[in-house]
Amino acid sequence: MIVVLKPDAAEAEKQELTAAFESRGLRVDRSEGERQTVLGLVGDPAAIDAELIASLPFVESVRRVSEPFRLCGRGLHPESAVVEVGGVKLGGGHFAMIAGPCSVESEEQIVSIARAVKAAGADILRGGAFKPRTSPYDFPGLGEKGLALLKLARAETGLPIVSEIMSATQLPLFEDVDLLQVGARSMQNYDLLRALGRTDKPVLLKRGLAATLRELLLAAEYVMAGGNARVILCERGIRSFSEFTRSTLDLSAVPELHELTQLPVIVDPSHAVGRRRLVPPMALAAAACGADGLMIEVHNEPFKALSDGAQALRCEEYAALAAKVRAVREAAKP
Ligand code: PEP
Ligand code: MN
Repeated sequence: MIVVLKPDAAEAEKQELTAAFESRGLRVDRSEGERQTVLGLVGDPAAIDAELIASLPFVESVRRVSEPFRLCGRGLHPESAVVEVGGVKLGGGHFAMIAGPCSVESEEQIVSIARAVKAAGADILRGGAFKPRTSPYDFPGLGEKGLALLKLARAETGLPIVSEIMSATQLPLFEDVDLLQVGARSMQNYDLLRALGRTDKPVLLKRGLAATLRELLLAAEYVMAGGNARVILCERGIRSFSEFTRSTLDLSAVPELHELTQLPVIVDPSHAVGRRRLVPPMALAAAACGADGLMIEVHNEPFKALSDGAQALRCEEYAALAAKVRAVREAAKP
């Protein structure tokens, strides 16, 4: 149930109503907008007399929520959420560039890429340490050592870091990682989502390979239902019948998600297209359609990359693209 209060509702009235709901076993999520306060009731609202609440002088309206997105739906949180990652903001007008290799491979590799993307204005460094590979015989990542090297690159450049977590049991290893990525293959790993919900870590939730937007939002809802509202969504391409690209980048998901949810939405064109040449045009299109950030794979020597070399931009290609992204964002300003 959603209770919208009148703009002139007093703080004491808000608190009294909140306490009344809580005494009936409901959790109250309060959202303060510029004009209104919205109380979202989580739990069984059967104990509440909606008409009685609606009759209170400081209540504007009461709505029963039939949609399942209680926590990540715009209905309850009309203001866009801003998620902060190591001092970098995403959402609500804040745009961030995430760049780095698919996998962390060596100190020399990650530090030189980190320096290059930082010089090109990147905000956050990416690098996989635990890799969900389609074949069990492919490079699985350096694991803990990879995370240590990523932290080293952070120390060298000051860039916050993001890396993929594959299971809840890995959580202690990620304590000092700034942003925890849930990969496309793990989007419906509900144990992992619940475990992340119990942390206060920002979560980058990638859309599953064949996930609908509803399924993506419900996955975000899992994290948020545990009490962690710091979720960033990522469109990274979905399975279709395209022959020449790895996936099909569903750019319409960006404005659609912005309508459905307050959460920031970023785009990963690299995994969507799978080919270097197609990354820049799709990155620019994503910037133009309102994405809150981009995640792009970059490698100092793509031909030697241990994973996803074909889609990695060279450092200088990334720098050129980053400058164009800034220009597109400028041109697309409302
Ligand atoms: C990645 O970002 O390294 C990755 C594996 O992406 P996805 O989960 O989108 O395939
Ligand atoms: Mn990759």
